[in-house]
Amino acid sequence: MVAPDSGNYIDNVEPATGQVYSLVPESNDVDLDSAVKSAEAAKEHWANTSLEKRAEILCRLADLIDANADELAKAEAIDNGKAVSFAKDVDIYRSAANIRFFAHAGTQFSSESHAMGDLAINYTLRDPIGIVGCISPWNFPLYLFTWKIAPALACGNVVIAKPSEVTPMTAYLFSKLCIEAGLPAGVLNILHGTGPSIGGPITTHPNIKAISFTGGSATGAHITKATAGMFKKLSLELGGKNPTLVFADCDFDETVTEVVRAAFSNQGQICLCGSRIYIERAIYEKFRNAFVDKVKTLRIGDPLDESTQHGATVSQSHMEKVLSYIELAQQEGGTVLTGGKRHQVTGRCKDGFFVEPTVIEGLDNQCRTNQEEIFGPVCTLMPFDNDDAAVKLANGTQYGLAASVWTNDLKRAHRVAKQIEAGIVWINCWLLRDLRTPFGGVKSSGVGREGGLEAMRFFTEPKNVCIKY
Ligand code: NDP
Repeated sequence: MVAPDSGNYIDNVEPATGQVYSLVPESNDVDLDSAVKSAEAAKEHWANTSLEKRAEILCRLADLIDANADELAKAEAIDNGKAVSFAKDVDIYRSAANIRFFAHAGTQFSSESHAMGDLAINYTLRDPIGIVGCISPWNFPLYLFTWKIAPALACGNVVIAKPSEVTPMTAYLFSKLCIEAGLPAGVLNILHGTGPSIGGPITTHPNIKAISFTGGSATGAHITKATAGMFKKLSLELGGKNPTLVFADCDFDETVTEVVRAAFSNQGQICLCGSRIYIERAIYEKFRNAFVDKVKTLRIGDPLDESTQHGATVSQSHMEKVLSYIELAQQEGGTVLTGGKRHQVTGRCKDGFFVEPTVIEGLDNQCRTNQEEIFGPVCTLMPFDNDDAAVKLANGTQYGLAASVWTNDLKRAHRVAKQIEAGIVWINCWLLRDLRTPFGGVKSSGVGREGGLEAMRFFTEPKNVCIKY
């Protein structure tokens, strides 16, 4: 661990209490140059380390995450405000799963060959790119950090990685586990700090040849402009405003439960959350009433309490942004059916940034509340009359990340899934993830895909070799 060149540290606030509880190094260009030097020194050795050895180190790292799951889940809950039980079952479990999956993917990855009759044969070499940059957001701090780092390392790259300065703690704890697992020095270089101080410089550093970024669409657009003309490989996983389509023939009770989960998991701070809920008119009132009743049962409280289902939003500024959208929704003619306010938790969390799970109806599809990503515990309900209308509403934003469709009509499920403009469509489920599948969005939700082979292809440079017989 190295202190930042500037000597500056940023306050790190626990969202559930509103209190500063640690300091984050504010890295700058000088720290980045040191990290790049250290990555350059490690690059050749790691690229030439056998696949088996790389996989062995990564599997050891995954085992260490499992062994430290309780401590990591607690750290994530303190740093992010999410419920500790959710952190353990989702964030930490999936962090280890990412690393283990890509450790094995590295040993199974193969490349193509293309025969040209009896004239020639082509084969594709897939070499590591060299130094790659991985930048991740605050909503799944360790999970999304490992989602990028694991395939990059498995493919033989060395990495400069930046977690969000809002949630840096598990990246720090992870760095200690990397050392324990035997990852050689310089292979993974973690730089803490803000977007402007260190995120931007990582994206434009000439020695960093590829950037894998997950975050907001505005930041993604900024990175695209900042790197224009530099010929870097870019993978951009951006924002979402995901539709949930509930048809009258769905399994009613299960759909209510799952649509609540899709809207409010992680306080609605998942890029995949279904925040625009369209319900077939025939069941609109029945579904709305059951949905609101279910939302009212969500247990809000101290994230460190194992029984908490709904924790704090990540920061004061984010809470204020979410509350301002609830205000806007009402100005736009919406009616709040439940929630709508900051929630007061007693005891140690009395100053925490809690927002009530909020359900709004009565808005049209074009209003800002239904067009802009709120990224908090707020969803809207709207009726629709037929399949075509549902698809039109679903596709009516600039985003195209994910959607879920709830129906027992097989033909409709396939047809609607094909028509929806999104990178992922779930039928009668939500957030069910197979790590082999392509992951990413269309329209303003991103460029490129990660996951499985897509990630392995992104983090390697293909070279065609053509041999004439
Ligand atoms: P941001 O875009 O604000 O930040 C993402 C990361 O980029 C952070 O580490 C941030 O640093 C860094 N960053 C900020 N500015 C720059 C810059 N100019 N150059 C390089 N890096 C920069 O997103 P949030 O952290 O607020 O995350 C929420 C967003 O992420 C939502 O829009 C959500 O939909 C999206 N998201 C998308 C996912 C997907 O897979 N498509 C998954 C999860 C979230 P810092 O925070 O330190 O300022």
